[in-house]
Amino acid sequence: MTNNNQLSRRALLATTAAGLAAASLPPLPAFAAAPPTTFKHGAFEVTVVSDGHLVLPTTMLAPDAKPDERAALLKTAGQSGDTYNAPTNVTLLRSASDLILIDMGSGDRFMPTAGKLWDNLKSAGIDKTKITKVIFTHGHPDHLWGAVDELDDLVLPKASFHVAAAEWDFWNGDNATRGLPAERAGFVTGAKRNYAAIKERVTMFKAGDEIVPGIQVISTPGHTQGHVSLAVAGGDGLIVGGDVLTHPIISFRHPEWKPTADHVPDQAVATRKMLLDRLAKDRSKLIGYHLPYPGLGRVERKDGAYRYVAEG
Ligand SMILES: [Zn+2]
Repeated sequence: MTNNNQLSRRALLATTAAGLAAASLPPLPAFAAAPPTTFKHGAFEVTVVSDGHLVLPTTMLAPDAKPDERAALLKTAGQSGDTYNAPTNVTLLRSASDLILIDMGSGDRFMPTAGKLWDNLKSAGIDKTKITKVIFTHGHPDHLWGAVDELDDLVLPKASFHVAAAEWDFWNGDNATRGLPAERAGFVTGAKRNYAAIKERVTMFKAGDEIVPGIQVISTPGHTQGHVSLAVAGGDGLIVGGDVLTHPIISFRHPEWKPTADHVPDQAVATRKMLLDRLAKDRSKLIGYHLPYPGLGRVERKDGAYRYVAEG
């Protein structure tokens, strides 16, 4: 009897303790992520969703810069060591009639730290099957490879896809490996694989086109041959800049430095300066794909260069 009583008491205590512990702890999230940043802009509700991050060598940012000068600037951005984490911020625009995704993240074949977009959308309560349109800024893995799943099937089989004709032609053409280091030849294979998957549902666009009313294509070549940004109408403007401005300090203070990720470095420098000038002049908002999450801010002129002022 005594034993039984003790046992059941112990069992009861254990159960109660477990119950209390469970009640006092928040439910375990699938990943530690705050609710995504959302704001109104013109006719759109804008949401920035993380795809995770990339781990990249710091030398990629500016191989031509003096190492100690580069290191000092990286330190300002809270980065030290041989590698740094580059966030990947995917923009979602909701209008009265469309749910539009700008870029699709890395998918599951690029880096283990990236490819989190679909999980993050889900936990934000956004049903990916409701996405009607996808616009790509360019064909690099961290922007395009999320288009297909592990079986090469489309993740969003009902969406329409929108690609710059110049970018499509570059990756599908014979010159795709030109300007790319040999170790990144896989980028070409991956771009072709993903473009092939969307081929039946793709619409080509060029600079100046409106994808939907209020979303206009700006030509911002250099990072890749057909790289584009998107201007979203409303207020002082909002530019979803893709990979024109990738680092919160270096891209603004030294737009003339040449990250190795840029396919056409001189053109990328000219594009960076053009976009910085426009953003500072118009006081437009910017969403930068690789700027610290959510990558939302404005650009100010400072001491003959520029400064990124984060918002949100
Ligand atoms: Zn990128």
